[in-house]
Amino acid sequence: MTGMTSTSRPLLNRRLAEFGTTIFAEMSALALSTGSINLGQGFPDTDGPEEVREAAVRALRDGRGNQYPPGPGVPALRAAISAHQERRYGLSYDVDTEVLVTAGATEAIAATLLALLEPGDEVIALEPYYDSYAACIAMAGGTRVPVTLRPHEGSFRLDLDELRDAVTDRTRLLLINTPHNPTGTVLTRAELAAVAELAVERDLLVVTDEVYEHLVFDDAEHLPLAGFPGMRERTVTIGSAGKTFSFTGWKVGWATGSRELVTAVRSAKQFLTYVSSGPFQYAVAEALALPDTYFETLRADMRAKRDVLAAGLAEAGFEVFRPAGTYFITTDIRPLGESDGFAFCRALPERAGVVAIPNAVFYDHREAGAPFVRFAFCKRTDVLQAATDRLLQLRKG
Ligand SMILES: *Cc1c(COP(=O)(O)O)cnc(C)c1O
Repeated sequence: MTGMTSTSRPLLNRRLAEFGTTIFAEMSALALSTGSINLGQGFPDTDGPEEVREAAVRALRDGRGNQYPPGPGVPALRAAISAHQERRYGLSYDVDTEVLVTAGATEAIAATLLALLEPGDEVIALEPYYDSYAACIAMAGGTRVPVTLRPHEGSFRLDLDELRDAVTDRTRLLLINTPHNPTGTVLTRAELAAVAELAVERDLLVVTDEVYEHLVFDDAEHLPLAGFPGMRERTVTIGSAGKTFSFTGWKVGWATGSRELVTAVRSAKQFLTYVSSGPFQYAVAEALALPDTYFETLRADMRAKRDVLAAGLAEAGFEVFRPAGTYFITTDIRPLGESDGFAFCRALPERAGVVAIPNAVFYDHREAGAPFVRFAFCKRTDVLQAATDRLLQLRKG
C-alpha cells in the first residue's frame, strides 16, 4: 500500500460502476415478500423433457463428465450442435474447430466480446438489449452504441437507416439478438439481409444471440444471420439449451463460427470457466437430437401460453405487443393512465400481486423505454390465468 487505503476509492471499478445489482434481484425479492406471481424473470416453472433429465442422470452415474470435460466441449455435444445447425439451417460447422461449448449463452457472449474487442472499439446493439451485453462490452473496454427498436404497428422494428448511421470508423462489431428479448421481435429475411449487407460493406464482425431460435410463432421464421451472403466468415452464432429445453440451470450454451473466430473466442473462454456442466453436456447432446415433434410441441405450447397472457393483459387494459418470438410480452402501460414503468412495476405487487420488469432497464435512452413493461409467459397455464385474473383489478383503478 502506498499511503492510500484500498477502500478510499470505490471498490467496484469504473468499468462496472453503473452495473450494481440487477432489477431481477429486487423484483424477485418483492415477489417473495408480497406473495406475488413472478412474471419478471424468464425461466420456466416446469422442467424440460423427462428423457433428457434421465440422460443427465445416466451420464452422471456412468461417470461421463464428472471430471473436467475437454476445453471445447465433449465431442458428442459438439457433433450434436453441428448436426443441429446443418439439419435446421443448412449451415455446416466442423465439429473439431468451429464449435465451442460454453457455460450458457452468457459465457459465450462474454468470451466473444472479451476476445474480439480492443478498448475503444464500438459495438452496436439493438436497444432494448439483454442486460449482460452492456456489462460485457464494458468489461472488454468497448463502447456500446445502442440502436433503438421502435414501436410500429403492433411490434418493435429496427430502423435500418438508423443502424446504418450508427456505424463509424470505430465500429468493430454488431451484436444482434433475434428472436429479440424483451420485445419479441423476430427480424425478417429482408431486415437480416440488410444487416448482412451493411456488415459486409463496412467489414464488421457480427455476434448473433439466437437463444430463442426455437420459440417463434405463427408465420415468423428464425433465420441465422450466418446463412446470409458474406456472413459465415464474420459471424459468431450463439445458442443455448436453457430456453429450448427448459433447463436454464444447466448452463449449457455454445458458439459456432469460422475456425479463426472460434479459436479467438476459445482463448478468452478458457480463462473464464475453462469448462463447465460436464454430465449435462451429454444430456444436451441427446436433447438436440430429439425428433422434430419435440420442437413443434414446444412452439405450440408456448404459443398457447402467449395467447393466454396476451388476452389477459389486453383485457386488463395494457397495450400488448404480440411477440413473434421468445417467451416475453412487452406492453405499453399508457392506456392504464401510467407512464413510468419503474414506478408501475414497484407498485404492481401491492396493487395486483404480480411482478413484471420495467423495460427501461434494458435501455441507455431510458426515456424511450419508460412506458414499457415486460411479462414472461414461460409459466404453467394455471399460473398465467391466475396472474391475468389478478391483473384485471387494474381496470378498477
Ligand atoms: C436467457 C438469455 C441468455 C442467457 O442464456 P444462458 O444460456 O442461460 O446463459 C442470453 N441471451 C438472451 C437474449 C437471453 O434471453
